Amino acid sequence: MNIILLGPPGAGKGTQAKKIQEHYKFPHISTGDILRENINNNTGLGLKAKSYMARGELVPDELLITIIKDRLSKKDCQNGFMLDGYPRTIPQADALQMILTESGEMVDVVLNIFVDDEELIKRLSGRRMCKCGASYHVIFNPPAQEDVCNLCKGKLYQRDDDKPETIRNRLNVYKKQTQPLINYYSNKKILKTIDGSKDIHQIFEEIKEELDKYDQ
Ligand SMILES: [Zn+2]
Repeated sequence: MNIILLGPPGAGKGTQAKKIQEHYKFPHISTGDILRENINNNTGLGLKAKSYMARGELVPDELLITIIKDRLSKKDCQNGFMLDGYPRTIPQADALQMILTESGEMVDVVLNIFVDDEELIKRLSGRRMCKCGASYHVIFNPPAQEDVCNLCKGKLYQRDDDKPETIRNRLNVYKKQTQPLINYYSNKKILKTIDGSKDIHQIFEEIKEELDKYDQ
């Protein structure tokens, strides 16, 4: 079974990917990871990608799909895979479809983990930093005393990146970029929206219920 994972920052996509991988034994293929792997191993594809990144340019679609195709041809993908971070655009989705068709395969299900903006902002803006390097989260990992570092008693601060207005912008960019993809897979009737506001185990139960409908 071939899966695509979608979800905004803060929706818990990474956590669910890990649980899916453990349970179903599908490799979790993140575009960032395979790019890094190719670059670290100095593969031909990695060197090409590196030359773009060194110039501060995006890795072009053509190269990206070649790297993905190479990864999907590995043995561990024989019984399925889970793609994360790809595709991001319709042309990329078309390219993926094309390489899968070549090997008689398809995307079986697109899991879209949905969490509303206010909840995401609450999760993502909760981080507090200390000059000593310690970091906290007001909900998930609060310091013993509000705004005070447990280690050095320094006053905690919020990074500009973690300010609600910055996060709102990030989420808007994500939505603008992803909505066409959601429509694309929804039209193909393979989109499954998962309620990401529940707790981690409940979310995974919902995902399992969906994936168990398919022959492995
Ligand atoms: Zn500190």
